[in-house]
Amino acid sequence: MARTVRDCLADGRPTISFEFMPPKTPEDEQRIWRTIRELEPLQPSFVSVTYGAGGSTRDNTINVTEQIALDTTLMPVAHLTAVNHSVTELRALVGRFADAGIVNLLALRGDPPGDVDGKWQRHPDGLEYASDLVALLAEHADFSVGVAAFPFKHPRSQSVEDDTRNFVAKCSAGADYAITQMFFDADDYLRLRDRVAAAGCDTPIIAGLMPVTNLKTIARSEQLSGAPFPAHLAEQFDDVADDPKAVRALGIEQAGALAQRLLDEGVPGLHFITFNFSKATREVMAQLSIPAAV
Ligand code: FAD
Repeated sequence: MARTVRDCLADGRPTISFEFMPPKTPEDEQRIWRTIRELEPLQPSFVSVTYGAGGSTRDNTINVTEQIALDTTLMPVAHLTAVNHSVTELRALVGRFADAGIVNLLALRGDPPGDVDGKWQRHPDGLEYASDLVALLAEHADFSVGVAAFPFKHPRSQSVEDDTRNFVAKCSAGADYAITQMFFDADDYLRLRDRVAAAGCDTPIIAGLMPVTNLKTIARSEQLSGAPFPAHLAEQFDDVADDPKAVRALGIEQAGALAQRLLDEGVPGLHFITFNFSKATREVMAQLSIPAAV
């Protein structure tokens, strides 16, 4: 049985994975477990749990990830960021993950807490870039480490060329795979894949997907990805903007079409951002024809 994301990717079939946020309240706690139970029958290759930027949900990431490993059939990946952590603290956290049997980590720099666009401040005894965290994790041979990729370039990168160079360096530091930020145009993903390959890097890049379920998620996606929502898709929402059900149905249909195109193009995996709800992900998955192997 696969123990790591590295193993899953090696088997050639596109991976399917779901991303959750750690719960903050008892209601959140109930919802995440309900959602996990609803998505478990789809037999994802792995599920991941994000790492809160502010600090309050950090223990919850470890607790939920550990509980997924113990109480479900799913393989958990824990996100870990360098925000507000000294190297000593990071080493202690890595030890806690290892003690809890978590061998899959997504290594991220993180954003300034409270303001995604604020000034990045390294902890005085901490790390500057995700590549430094990858290198720290690479000291532990047991971990399978993933990193983030940005189809439209990271919002802080000066140019696409800089972004590609830094991404490739991050992979060379010891990453087994990458997961992209959400995007809506398959060509943005394919251009990223091509330029990374042209730079001599063959790290598998899993596509991050977020179905639009209401018009507010479009603005949020633009802030996180640094990419404008594609005009040809935005126009389709104009006709149904006053009808929330029709907006949702169109968002699911667009996400299904994007996911199928990516599968047809040989994507190594699809990663669904769920916001701890299962319905949209299940509806998109129901539209897909997933090849036995790429
Ligand atoms: P880096 O790879 O360090 O890149 C940050 C910037 O620095 C980029 O512009 C890059 O080009 C530049 N850079 C990198 N190396 C160098 C160098 N050597 N010299 C000069 N410039 C360099 N955030 C959370 O807080 N919690 C989460 O759980 C979380 N999960 C995520 C999951 C995915 C799949 C993705 C795509 C993002 C996630 N994020 C999360 C957001 C992420 O932390 C932010 O987007 C953050 O701003 C960038 O993180 P990174 O790991 O890509 O950083």
